[in-house]
Amino acid sequence: MDIAIVGSGYVGLVTGVCLAHIGHHVICCDNNEEKIKVLKSGGVPIYEPGLNELLAKYRKSKRIVFTTSIAEAAKKATVIFIAVGTPSKKNGDADLTYIENVAREVARNMDSYKLLVEKSTVPAQTGNRIERTIRLNLPKNSTLEFDVASNPEFLREGSAVEDFMHPDRVVLGVSSKRAERLLREVYKPLKANIVVTNVATAEMIKHASNSFLATKISFINSVAQICERVGADVEKVAEGMGYDKRIGRSFLNTGIGYGGSCFPKDVDAFVRLAEKSGYDFSILKSVRQVNEDQKKSFIRLIEDKLWNIKDKTIAVWGLAFKANTDDMRSAASLTIIEALQAEGASIQAYDPVAMDNAKKMIKGVKFCEDAYAAVKDADCLLLLTEWDEFRKVDFTKVRDTMSQTVIFDGRNFLDHDALGAFGFECYGIGRGKHA
Ligand code: NAD
Repeated sequence: MDIAIVGSGYVGLVTGVCLAHIGHHVICCDNNEEKIKVLKSGGVPIYEPGLNELLAKYRKSKRIVFTTSIAEAAKKATVIFIAVGTPSKKNGDADLTYIENVAREVARNMDSYKLLVEKSTVPAQTGNRIERTIRLNLPKNSTLEFDVASNPEFLREGSAVEDFMHPDRVVLGVSSKRAERLLREVYKPLKANIVVTNVATAEMIKHASNSFLATKISFINSVAQICERVGADVEKVAEGMGYDKRIGRSFLNTGIGYGGSCFPKDVDAFVRLAEKSGYDFSILKSVRQVNEDQKKSFIRLIEDKLWNIKDKTIAVWGLAFKANTDDMRSAASLTIIEALQAEGASIQAYDPVAMDNAKKMIKGVKFCEDAYAAVKDADCLLLLTEWDEFRKVDFTKVRDTMSQTVIFDGRNFLDHDALGAFGFECYGIGRGKHA
């Protein structure tokens, strides 16, 4: 099939490349000229494992092409996926300006039947608004037919290609048989479980799924707070809970809270959607609060154990909001570094892939070339992202390089007992050691 993707970021680009991989012809569109220039010239504007190789293959065979023109993309394809950003407004609402712009432009350039598919995460009812926008912007007296569908994306940055190729389910929110048939055809090669529903229900499935996962994280973080106070180990609690099939181990990882471009904004948007429809979603409000408190409590722990922050040199390992991505959006590292800088600390940081993005977002940090350079003469080390390479460093070298051998492990990622035997003072979260 000929498929267009409008918005070639983390979701759009991965979707485009994977659709090419399963046999479709894809045109990826973005209004960021720099991004399209990079893509056309053989580069990859984001870091995502496995993406580079697939992109190179299908770019060469021209199964995937790039443009800055929605008109060109809309003319080439019958199915048009919208994968533009839907960031939070100040009041928590999803900002749907980009979605509206795309709907308008597609409508103005339509010359035959089109199926517009929401891939971006949007509040329930957005499908109706897109439909209305298209009707209002079609050429005068046009009798062109079109459909709007919802096909929310569940991929995770860091394993996006794998997730796209092997989804737990594909959700198709449709309002016509024609739309359903086309979307089934798009996904046929994946042989995935397909859930077909109406558009609003598909939109709600995405809201509910992300918010539920955020709830699991805040739940275990709350449990961690109590573990710390009563001398229990949250990692063992999570393990003991996780074997229960009704609960499951995933998303029971304690730490400095969730970040990234999805959970914070999607939880906000769901709370706002509930509010506007007359329901007070108090559970989700607490989920959000717990997430904020988690970062504050980590900062308090550092303040307590380091005694004075002023003039201390603090090493930071990991800046991205999670491992295997260069995405810095709503990363916990931003809040934590800013708070410590405000108290007079000097920060020396290292991240395997996110430093270029981090440099645009944090000032006054010394960015280091590797993990060892970051800990040089440091009074303590903060582990903020669970990159695998941090488990493989030579801790003898780290110990000999640091000024004080104190580690704050914001992801409960390192082996604290082994490091303790090595002479490090290690603080994790909810490990019952600093009660
Ligand atoms: P992103 O910022 O990486 O990409 C969005 C792209 O859209 C940008 O490159 C931007 O230049 C482009 N764009 C904006 N307006 C445009 C226009 N009028 N025409 C063409 N291009 C335009 O964002 P993302 O992380 O890929 O997220 C996109 C959507 O997918 C969001 O709604 C997000 O919530 C959702 N989502 C994201 C993830 C994730 O892990 N990142 C997972 C599932 C769903």
